Amino acid sequence: MNINLILKSGLAAAFLFAVFTAMSGQVTNSKNIDMENLSTKEFPALPYAYDALEPYIDAMTMEIHYDRHHRAYFNNYVAAIKGTAYENMPIGKVFAEVSKAGDAIKNNGGGYYNHVFFWRILGKGTAGPSPELSTAINKAFGSFDKFKETFSNAAKTRFGSGWAWLIVTTDKSLAIGSTANQDNPLMDNSSLKGIPILTIDVWEHAYYLKYQNKRADYIEAFWNVVNWDEVNRLYMATVK
Ligand code: MN
Repeated sequence: MNINLILKSGLAAAFLFAVFTAMSGQVTNSKNIDMENLSTKEFPALPYAYDALEPYIDAMTMEIHYDRHHRAYFNNYVAAIKGTAYENMPIGKVFAEVSKAGDAIKNNGGGYYNHVFFWRILGKGTAGPSPELSTAINKAFGSFDKFKETFSNAAKTRFGSGWAWLIVTTDKSLAIGSTANQDNPLMDNSSLKGIPILTIDVWEHAYYLKYQNKRADYIEAFWNVVNWDEVNRLYMATVK
């Protein structure tokens, strides 16, 4: 091997190392990969019984929300991607170019993914944010109370139907925002972009039976059924 070749190999190795280092510094979605590869063969089970979140989210709402609304999004998404380039594409990749895919794929794909995510971050009996997530919350919002207020306001002020989100941005900090309809922060058309670690569904179908028009009461109740273990896990997986 002559000296030129050795130099070139060294430069190539240094370049690859720099690329690798830069890539490993980015926000990853590794623990959301199972979310990105959501099955289009089988409608996923609800991870608990319909009455598991009583009295904050009632069993009748959960049953209708999961078994009718969510299932319809799944069925319509499967029908919309059938025979298209999106049929075998992981849903995270579909979202990354969803503005080209058309409204049926965007709305039903969002409706499918967002609800799987929502069920997962709900639960009872968890302690709260981990020390790592608490530090990030305090840095971004000043305090936990201020974070709750900001998130609740995003949920209250979303006009019409949609979702509020806590996301990890590309610089690994936290941000709060909302999206309309079934849009989410993984979609290329979304003005809010990042990796979601917490969400609330503020479509009326999520709360109308128990709370009628009082969206603020539903949002207040939501804080009793946040599955902080899962939110903590998603945060660590996203920033590591
Ligand atoms: Mn919903």
